[in-house]
Amino acid sequence: MICPTCSTTNQRSTVRVIRTTPGKLEKVHFWDEDGVEHYHNPNVIVTELECSNGHRFAERSSWECSVCGYKACEAEIVEPAEPVVTAEARQATVRRTPTTRKKGKR
Ligand SMILES: [Zn+2]
Ligand SMILES: [Zn+2]
Repeated sequence: MICPTCSTTNQRSTVRVIRTTPGKLEKVHFWDEDGVEHYHNPNVIVTELECSNGHRFAERSSWECSVCGYKACEAEIVEPAEPVVTAEARQATVRRTPTTRKKGKR
């Protein structure tokens, strides 16, 4: 992990984790038509980071299903100018969520 600001300005720095925000969505565990077991984790994990030069940035990442390659998002660095938006991350996961039956929704 190299600070994206430092990498563009050729500075050297160490990077530490400020905090990690795992999503709260339930993992989906199912077997497909061929009886193959899948674990799908629809959560986008946001890791907030700070380098020793004081640049703040964040990384978005997610778990990948080893069978079909499903993942909630591509791993990417969120630039410091952009606030860490978990609501946006959540939206991105909703459309890819596999079918689950909702019971008793009013
Ligand atoms: Zn930096
Ligand atoms: Zn899968």
